[in-house]
Amino acid sequence: MIDWEYTDDECPKCGEQMAWRRCDALGCGDDLEDDGFPAGICDSCNGKGYHEWCRECGWDNVFNHFLSPQYEREWIERTRTDGEKAVLEHFWN
Ligand SMILES: [Zn+2]
Ligand SMILES: [Zn+2]
Repeated sequence: MIDWEYTDDECPKCGEQMAWRRCDALGCGDDLEDDGFPAGICDSCNGKGYHEWCRECGWDNVFNHFLSPQYEREWIERTRTDGEKAVLEHFWN
């Protein structure tokens, strides 16, 4: 089952088309105030009601960070110069 689709947005990191899907977290987007519960911000989507991410580099456009440190590391390794990499390796190892 395909539960996501491409958007017209470009990834701010690598320029690829972003993927989009509606947030399926329990209670997300519902107006809970009628039930006496405060309408809290959904942890899963940061209250936006959807997810938007890059399938190419792993950038998450909702939270403005990479989906995992591994994606971030791969992206840095693709874009950094050798000198900068040496500094970063120092921190990672
Ligand atoms: Zn949500
Ligand atoms: Zn990307």
